[in-house]
Amino acid sequence: MGASGRVGRTAAFCLAEENMVSKLVLFAREKSLARIEGESLDMYDAMAAKDIRISILSTCDIENLKDSDIVVITAGVPRKAGMSRSEIAIPNAKIVAEYSRLVAEYSPNSIILVVTNPVDVMTYVALKASGFHPSKVFGLGNHLDSLRLRNMLAKHFNIHVSEIHTRVIGEHGDHMVPLVSSTSIGGILLKNYALDGTIDMEGMVKKVINAGSYVINKKGSTEFGPAYAVSNIITTVLNDEKKILTVSAYLDGEIKGIKDVCLGVPVKLGINGIERIIPLKMNDNETAAFKSAAKFVKERTSEVMESLK
Ligand code: NAP
Repeated sequence: MGASGRVGRTAAFCLAEENMVSKLVLFAREKSLARIEGESLDMYDAMAAKDIRISILSTCDIENLKDSDIVVITAGVPRKAGMSRSEIAIPNAKIVAEYSRLVAEYSPNSIILVVTNPVDVMTYVALKASGFHPSKVFGLGNHLDSLRLRNMLAKHFNIHVSEIHTRVIGEHGDHMVPLVSSTSIGGILLKNYALDGTIDMEGMVKKVINAGSYVINKKGSTEFGPAYAVSNIITTVLNDEKKILTVSAYLDGEIKGIKDVCLGVPVKLGINGIERIIPLKMNDNETAAFKSAAKFVKERTSEVMESLK
C-alpha cells in the first residue's frame, strides 16, 4: 500500500527479483492507478529478462488485497530536506490507521510491515488500528540503520560487509542506539579488533544517525536502502528463516522492563512473524540511551494516538 511512491515501487521490484513471491499486488490511490500500471508493465519486462514468472496486479480496489500473506505499508508523506521524521507523524498516522483497518478487514491473517515514518510510532498505530497480535505487526527502521553502520565499518576496515555483525536499536531517528559493545568483525569483538585506536566510533555513530537526511539532501529521498531492507525482512518471514533482524516491535517488558511502545529491537523472524524478542545485555551508556529512546517514542506515540481520537 503506497506502491506509487519511491520506496513502495522499489520494494516491490526487489521482492519480485527475489523470485519467491507468486503474486504481488501494487495498491495505490485511484489518482495514481496509471502510474502503478506503468510500474507493473515495466517490472514484467525486467522479470522476463531474469527468467522470473510472477503475477503483478496494479489496483486501487481494496478487494484485490484479500487474503494477502504480507502487507507492506509505505503510504504517507515523506520528509523533505531539513524535516524531522516526527513532523510528518499526525498526517501519516491517519493514513496508516485507515489502511491498517482495511488490512484487518480484508486480510485478517496477514502480517503488516510498516515503513511509513516516523516508523516506531506508525507501527504502534498499525498495531492498534488492525487489532492484530503484536507478533504480526512490525516496522522497518533500525534494520536499515544497522545496514548503514555495517557499511561504514566495512569501508573503514576494508573488510567484506558479511564479516561485520552490528546492530542499531531504539528509535529510527535521532534516538537510535548503535550497539557498539556487541559489534564484531569476523567474530572478534570490535573493542578487541580495533586495538590501534584509529576508529572514530562516535563520529561514525553520528553519521549513521544522519545517513537518511544526508541521502535526502542529495537525491530527495532514500529508496534502494529501504527497499532492499524491506525485501530482506519479507524473505526472512516467507522462507521461515528464523534470522535475528532488528525491527520495530511492540514491547511488553521483554527488554529493560519497557512496556507499551514500539521500538527497534532484535527479534527472531519466521513464517508467523515475530517468534521471539531477544533479551539484550547492554552496557550502561547503551541502556540509558535505549531508555531515553523509549521515553521519546512513547511521548510522541501518545500525542499521535490522541490526535486520532
Ligand atoms: P513518496 O515517493 O512521496 O510516496 C508516498 C506514497 O504515499 C505514494 O504512494 C502516495 O500515493 C502515498 N500517499 C501519500 N499521501 C497519501 C494519502 N493521503 N493517502 C494514501 N496514500 C498516500 O514517498 P517515499 O519516499 O516512497 O516514502 C514513503 C514513506 O516511507 C514516507 O513516510 C517515508 O518517510 C518512509 N520511509 C521510511 C523508511 C524506513 O526505514 N522506515 C525509509 C524510507 C522512507 P500517491 O502517489 O497517490 O500520492
